Amino acid sequence: MSSPFELADQWGPFQVVHIYRPQSGLKAIVVIDNVACGPAIGGTRMAPDVSLLECARLARAMTFKNAAAGLPHGGAKSVIYQDPSVTDSAKEETMRSFACAIRHLEDYIPGPDMGTNEQAMAWVNDEIGRAVGLPREIGGIPLDEIGATGLGVAKAAEVAQQFSDLKLKNARVAVQGFGAVGQHAARFLAQYGAILVAASDSTGTIYDPDGIEVETLMKLKRDGKPVTAMQPGQILGRDEIVGVDCDIWIPAARPDVLNKDNVNELKAKLVVQGANIPATLEAEEIMHRKGILSIPDFIANAGGVICASVEYHGGNQTAAMDVIAEKVERNTHDVLSKARAKGILPRSAAEELAKERVKAAMCQRRWG
Ligand code: NAD
Repeated sequence: MSSPFELADQWGPFQVVHIYRPQSGLKAIVVIDNVACGPAIGGTRMAPDVSLLECARLARAMTFKNAAAGLPHGGAKSVIYQDPSVTDSAKEETMRSFACAIRHLEDYIPGPDMGTNEQAMAWVNDEIGRAVGLPREIGGIPLDEIGATGLGVAKAAEVAQQFSDLKLKNARVAVQGFGAVGQHAARFLAQYGAILVAASDSTGTIYDPDGIEVETLMKLKRDGKPVTAMQPGQILGRDEIVGVDCDIWIPAARPDVLNKDNVNELKAKLVVQGANIPATLEAEEIMHRKGILSIPDFIANAGGVICASVEYHGGNQTAAMDVIAEKVERNTHDVLSKARAKGILPRSAAEELAKERVKAAMCQRRWG
């Protein structure tokens, strides 16, 4: 990058900070992308090799994700340049040093990301009283344990009934990636009358057209077994889940799992994106042409960041679940209405919605 302002456009970044502490060796960057909606929430990644450009892109994605979720928060991201597999005491030292270095960046609220976790956020919070994704003992809401993101995914599917001829009662569901997001999405959808017929993890797929008992499969995963250990059920290859006979397909594993080479195998009428960027743009366009409704990631999987925001504002678990349900329902409805009215991709409608919100917030502010 020849100039630090190469990244600048109408949205930001508001501040780019390079941090170096010669005594401790701490090296980090913070990109606060846009704070029009409020102080920026964004993860702190610990990794040896993330470029400033990548960090800035991730920060921008948080600006739009938080705005699309209707949160009073802008977007940011930070990177600590360190191998995350260091000892706990070395990690504590780094996190406390990082916290002191960002003490004055009051527009930035760090959260857990790759290489950091609740414990790391507890150290940051202890130093500067500002972090989200904290342990329960100090007011945190354990979002993966309670299924914050899975609840949002299920709520998005519930709203999608108004925009397709699909009904959740007896709808057959396939979940790719039976982890924190996938398990709870399946659990909440089962409460709405849907039937889990297939689930996969990194080892393979289990398929049973008569229905898979969600709680039993969750217990099996808690016991450290792969989904393919479930009985009864037919064992399929890991990627065969794309083509299983189902009504709702939920990606909850990796990016780009739906692409132009496999998207035509999908039999579902509805895709609810639990994972981040699980479909390429080409795949989204193909789905749109074929009449498969696909709810974009930053609308459907916003439950986690909404939960973090409720935690930051002092709310409890019950409040978090209520706010997730309310916000994801409303945003899914707004996005699908706009997509239908304009005949555009739901992702384009979601991006428009997020930009409108950031722009409206920017108009309320005087930047000095
Ligand atoms: P997780 O690690 O708990 O679960 C991921 C699951 O996917 C695991 O069971 C793993 O075995 C499986 N998996 C990995 N590669 C696979 C593959 N190729 N095919 C099938 N299964 C595969 O992770 P998670 O927290 O559930 O997150 C899942 C996705 O959702 C990630 O993309 C994450 O970034 C995104 N996400 C998570 C949250 C959250 O609240 N946890 C919020 C927003 C987005």
